[in-house]
Amino acid sequence: MITSREDRGRPVPLLDVPRSNRPLRQEFQDAIMEVCDSGQFLFGPACQKLEEEMATWCGTDHAVGCASGSDALLVALMAENIGPGDEVIVPSFTFFSTASAAWRLGARPVFVDIDPVSFNISPAAIRDAITPATRAVIPVHLFGQCAEMPEIMQIARQHKLVVIEDTAQAIGASVEGEPAGSWGDVGCLSFYPTKNLGGFGDGGMMVTQDHRRAERLRLFATHGMKPRYQHHVVGINSRLDSIQAAALNVKLKHLPEATRLRQQNADNYQELFEQAGIDQQVVLPTSGDSMEHVWNQYTIRVPGGQRDALAKHLGERQIGHAIYYPIPLHQQACFQVEGEAPPCLPETEKAAAEVLSLPIFPELIDDELEQVVGNIGDFLAKRQRSAA
Ligand SMILES: *Cc1c(COP(=O)(O)O)cnc(C)c1O
Repeated sequence: MITSREDRGRPVPLLDVPRSNRPLRQEFQDAIMEVCDSGQFLFGPACQKLEEEMATWCGTDHAVGCASGSDALLVALMAENIGPGDEVIVPSFTFFSTASAAWRLGARPVFVDIDPVSFNISPAAIRDAITPATRAVIPVHLFGQCAEMPEIMQIARQHKLVVIEDTAQAIGASVEGEPAGSWGDVGCLSFYPTKNLGGFGDGGMMVTQDHRRAERLRLFATHGMKPRYQHHVVGINSRLDSIQAAALNVKLKHLPEATRLRQQNADNYQELFEQAGIDQQVVLPTSGDSMEHVWNQYTIRVPGGQRDALAKHLGERQIGHAIYYPIPLHQQACFQVEGEAPPCLPETEKAAAEVLSLPIFPELIDDELEQVVGNIGDFLAKRQRSAA
């Protein structure tokens, strides 16, 4: 039940990483000390184990650890020789590194619009953006739900485009039972602490079905060097260290339960918004047919220009929330091309003005969800009174 107004006033954090990690303290300690005792801080058995496990999770034959999700995207494009003169189709409504990876290699990120319901890249917009210079497309599985991979793969195959999946927010998600990361040529994972599988710092991984591509990815992530001091290509140094891998191996065992709890929280939100009679005043996120959503974020839309006022209201009541993402990438200063106006991406721009992400982390308790929904209800009721 929704709490009465008198019951409110307890703060709710957007994220509480220590709350998730605390019960696993001893397991972390044992795993990390094992690495310390072994002295194998890079490419140790913990790294190999994590690569094997993530390949299984993603339904791929190979996985290659690297230093971050951003590096995974960069290395994946490097291994395809993407560079000046090439175009890479990306959504604009995403985190920075989806596009910066292409930009840094001298390629041009071509920003396209999203589907307003899923927030994910629109397959029709991909089709429209293809030119003879298009080499790759990077669908992002935003907020924990996969992009329309069956259709995107069909378009990509037809036009011989490389597909790099940005799976940073969607480890464990799937479409038609096929996991995120297994659809495209490479899947890029992030172990940033707030992702569904978060480490104790930065970390990332690339997954692929193709063993030759896996070798190239590993080559580019290790200075193009094989064996030692023989450099075949100019790569970078991007490694996943064994301490991260050891901690992640501990957390991976608990990922199915953590995902279940996120899904449960999403269901509970739906019910609480309905009970409060405000499920039509905001737009609640949905999980598409044939999609397994893993809810890295629970992102509502607040229409009617009220998003910022609601965010302020929640801020005053110490209810955690965030705006992912307030400025679309096609409008960022760093991506402007001299003499060209930025494209007009109406759905992206509308989403950036309306979205609000609410706490969804696995260990949230019922009272916290009720506080979140109750405070949103108060705001909407107050607005309605002042409009009347
Ligand atoms: C987090 C994230 C990244 C980058 O991952 P890092 O490990 O932080 O470098 C890339 N794309 C998306 C969509 C992300 O959410």
